[in-house]
Amino acid sequence: MKIAVVGTGYVGLVSGTCFAETGNNVTCIDIDKRKIDKLASGEITIYEPGLEKLFERNLKENRLHFTTSLEEGIKGAEIIFLALPTPPGEDGSADLKYILGVAKDLGGLLKPENYVVIVDKSTVPVGTSEKVVHQILAHALHGVKEGTDFDVVSNPEFLREGVAVDDFMKPDRVVIGTESDKAREVMGRLYAPFVRQGNPVLYMDKRSSELTKYAANSFLAAKITFMNEIARVCELLGADVDMVRRGIGSDSRIGKRFLFPGIGYGGSCFPKDVQALVKSSNEVNYQFKMLESVIEVNEEQKVYLIPKIKKFFNEDLKGRHFAIWGLAFKPNTDDIREAPALYIIKALLEAGATVAAYDPEAMKNVKEIFGDQIRFAESPYDTLVEADALIIATEWNEFRTPDFERLGSLLKEKVIFDGRNLFDLNQIEQLGFYYSSIGRKTIEK
Ligand code: NAD
Repeated sequence: MKIAVVGTGYVGLVSGTCFAETGNNVTCIDIDKRKIDKLASGEITIYEPGLEKLFERNLKENRLHFTTSLEEGIKGAEIIFLALPTPPGEDGSADLKYILGVAKDLGGLLKPENYVVIVDKSTVPVGTSEKVVHQILAHALHGVKEGTDFDVVSNPEFLREGVAVDDFMKPDRVVIGTESDKAREVMGRLYAPFVRQGNPVLYMDKRSSELTKYAANSFLAAKITFMNEIARVCELLGADVDMVRRGIGSDSRIGKRFLFPGIGYGGSCFPKDVQALVKSSNEVNYQFKMLESVIEVNEEQKVYLIPKIKKFFNEDLKGRHFAIWGLAFKPNTDDIREAPALYIIKALLEAGATVAAYDPEAMKNVKEIFGDQIRFAESPYDTLVEADALIIATEWNEFRTPDFERLGSLLKEKVIFDGRNLFDLNQIEQLGFYYSSIGRKTIEK
C-alpha cells in the first residue's frame, strides 16, 4: 500500500517506519526542513530502541521516503495518517490548529479519482474527525465527496515511548473508529500483519474511538497518582509502599503493572491528555472531579522531593551542590516534555543551589532549556564530584546497580534522595547512606 504520514515526530516516524517494515511504501512529511533533511540523509532524529535498525533497512530498500511537501507526499496515497501535535491550548483543551491546518490544505489537494482514507492518529478530542471532514469539504477545490472520494477515520495510537517499536509491531489492540465499510476494509488490510497473534482490532464509531485514547491515558495517570498518594500515606503511617504494592498487585482485578510510586507522571501525553479530558467534560457541563484531583496531586508530586531535601539541609540550599541522575521523563527515551527532573532542577536553582546532571540520552534536549545554568556530566559518577547529595529522577537501568563504594566516596556526604525507589532498603542501610525514597522509611545514617 502507498501511505503518507503527515508529522514526523515520535508517533509519525515510528508508525511510518513500522508500516514500511511490513512492506508498504511510506512517505513521511514534516514542515521541519532540518528534520526531513536529516532523515532523508539517513540520520535518525529521535532515540527509540530498535528504531534505527528498521529505519536504515527500509530507507535502503526504498520503502521509506521523506519530504516537506504535502502535495508530493500524498501523491497516490491510499491512506494519509495525521500524526501531528495536539498540544494544550491556554485553557487546557487540545489545540487543533495543526490538524485543522493540514485538513484545510488536504481540501485543496484531494481529487475525486483516488479514494483515500485520512486517519487521525493524533490524540484528539471527541468530534475532531467530524471537524476534519468539514474542514476538507469547506476547502475542497476539486469537488471531493465524503464516503465516495475520502473518509476520515479515528485510529488513536497507544505506543509508549521507550518501547514504541515493540508496541507498534505488537499492539495490545488496534482501535479503529469509522462508520464506513470501505475505510474499514482498507484499515483492516493495513493492520493485518500487526495482529496475526490474535490481538484484537476493535472497530467502533469515531467518537468512541477518540474518547478511548483519553480514557486510557487518564486511567493510567489516575492509577499512578493513586499509588503516589498511597506512598504519601505509607510514609505518614510507617508502612512500606513496596509491600502494599505487591499486596494489591497480586489481585488480578488490580494487576501488577503501573503501581510503582515515584515523582509524578510526565511526558508529552498524560499531562496534556488528562487536562484535555477535563476540559472536554467541562464543555458538556460535566465536572470530572476525579481527574481534577489527579492533576493537582501530580503537580505536587513532581517536586515532592524538594521539601525533603530542604528539611535535610535545614531549609537552606544556598551554595549546596546536587547531582541528578536522570532527566528524561522516563527511561529509554530522550523526551523531556513535562519531565519531573526539570521541575526539580528549577526549584534547586531558585533556592540558590547548583546542579550537575547526567542522562544517557536526554542531555542534549535539557541543554536547550537550561544552557550552562547546570553542568552536564560525562557519566553518572562524574555528577557526584563535590555534590552534597544525589537525586535520582529517572529509573534508567544503568542507575540500578551502581558501585556504591565509589558513589559514597565521590559524594561530599553519603546522601541520596531517590524519586524512583531504585535501591533495596536493607542494602542501603548496611552501606551507611542517608536514603530518602518514596513511600518507604527513611534510612538515617
Ligand atoms: P511530535 O511533536 O514529536 O511530532 C509532531 C511533528 O509534526 C513534528 O515533527 C512537527 O514538526 C510536525 N508538524 C507540525 N505541523 C506540521 C504540518 N503542518 N505539516 C507537517 N508536519 C507538521 O509529536 P508526537 O509525540 O509524535 O505526537 C503526535 C500526536 O500523537 C499527539 O497528538 C500525541 O498526543 C499523540 N501520541 C503521542 C504519543 C507519544 O508517546 N509521543 C503516543 C501516542 C499518541
